[in-house]
Amino acid sequence: MNKVAQLIDGQFVQSTSTDFIEVSNPATNEIIAHAPLATDIEMEQAIDAATTAFKTWKKVSVPERARLMLRYQHLLKENHDAIATVLSEETGKTFADAKGDVWRGIEVVEQAANISSMMMGETIENAATNIDIHSITQPLGVCLGITPFNFPAMIPLWMFPLAIASGNTFILKPSEQDPQTPMMLAELFMQAGAPKGILNVLHGGKDQVNYLLKHDAIKAVSFVGSVPVGQHIYKTATDNMKRAQCFAGAKNHCVIMPDANKDFAINNLVGASVGAAGQRCMAISVAVFVGDSAEWIDELSAKIGAVKPGVWNDENAGYGPLISQQAKARVLSLIEEGKKQGATCLLDGSDFTLKGYEGGNWVGPTVFRDVKPEMSIYQEEVFGPVLCCITVDTLDEAIALVNANPYGNGTSIFTASGAAARKYQSNIEVGQVGINVAIPVPLPFFSFTGWKNSFYGDLHAYGKQGVRFYTETKTITSRWLDDDIPSGPNMTIELK
Ligand code: NAD
Repeated sequence: MNKVAQLIDGQFVQSTSTDFIEVSNPATNEIIAHAPLATDIEMEQAIDAATTAFKTWKKVSVPERARLMLRYQHLLKENHDAIATVLSEETGKTFADAKGDVWRGIEVVEQAANISSMMMGETIENAATNIDIHSITQPLGVCLGITPFNFPAMIPLWMFPLAIASGNTFILKPSEQDPQTPMMLAELFMQAGAPKGILNVLHGGKDQVNYLLKHDAIKAVSFVGSVPVGQHIYKTATDNMKRAQCFAGAKNHCVIMPDANKDFAINNLVGASVGAAGQRCMAISVAVFVGDSAEWIDELSAKIGAVKPGVWNDENAGYGPLISQQAKARVLSLIEEGKKQGATCLLDGSDFTLKGYEGGNWVGPTVFRDVKPEMSIYQEEVFGPVLCCITVDTLDEAIALVNANPYGNGTSIFTASGAAARKYQSNIEVGQVGINVAIPVPLPFFSFTGWKNSFYGDLHAYGKQGVRFYTETKTITSRWLDDDIPSGPNMTIELK
């Protein structure tokens, strides 16, 4: 049995647990590994190691901490393809998509290597007569990260490099569905020269998370995952007096104006909706066609229908299988509800299977039109290769529709009008906005924070007063439309 190790106090150790979770290859459902449910003793050992390591790590000079990140970045780049291969096997992602997952994480490590400038405080001379004041930034202590299955490289790398570069120590509890990728990240971190105890990795599910969330030694929690779990983690962490930032689920809309470049908008929507089998928190799951752009729905549906799911190393595969049989069953049941509730199913991927891989969790590309906001297919985050099309008459109607949605993670607009784009970016109540960019994932030097039910936490506090005032941050990614508009479906999140 291939048992996944844990990292405790600098050692990769096998758990003494008798309870294990099966990790399967989503393309076949063959069991490829077993991840332990960490025991209480192991969790205490990891917390002790992180607590002890904090005493010395916080004293390590900031440039030295940054140098660890430089060495780590180098190793991640050297092992980029090897990590992506393991990632593909346990998530089912195409190799191109898996490489994007790793690369996006490497960019965060690069940001962590710049920690010196981010840790700088502020100073003022003569704040009162003959009184100078300066502020400094100090680490908090042991931090906890709980990550989802859908980006097993990028999301752990969102968390521990920045926390550790800032002088904190860290316990990572990655998703139990794909724990081998985060273990490779941890191995390379140790190879880069990380002192023992500054990063610990424990496996498990809700019992392990709940144990850690209630532990006094843990000072702050970062979570990325679904809305119900995010709400539970935010409440439990804050009830236990911890700082918490919880990034949750999404329902992302793309507005297509009639003046948009049709081919460009359609090509981008194809990848943004069904790429990665729709298992991205920034996937576009609702396309809102304004006015005459509704005439493009059939062409969009035909292009989405041309995308072929396939195994990770098939270069022609547009996307891979869903992560689990449960995820597939859930997506199929939402497709059925969509049909029953009166949406028109233009393209139905429910019966898709891949020859030679019939045991995998395949769902073919699926497109609905005439979707109404009260339908389950619109209300719920589907997290599958399913696009809902809605038609409205005006941009104002589109904005009202998006703002009435309880999620606020990402959105985009395709238009040639600067005025329409400007109005959309100002009035939309969503954290990440793309203008002629379908999936506007900001680079790490910008804020990534959803609004409304897509984020629970205190990142929005702003201001220098003792009592901070609250604002929201919105990150806008806009494309200059040039002559060299790329043609053909864009299936991966753009990297550069
Ligand atoms: P999930 O919420 O099921 O699991 C996330 C983590 O929480 C895992 O580590 C899991 O072990 C743990 N967990 C699960 N149930 C728990 C419970 N009852 N108590 C305590 N811990 C528990 O999410 P997932 O299915 O792995 O990931 C997909 C979700 O993540 C989607 O909703 C997606 O939108 C969201 N997501 C959000 C972002 C973002 O930045 N907003 C990014 C990626 C994914």
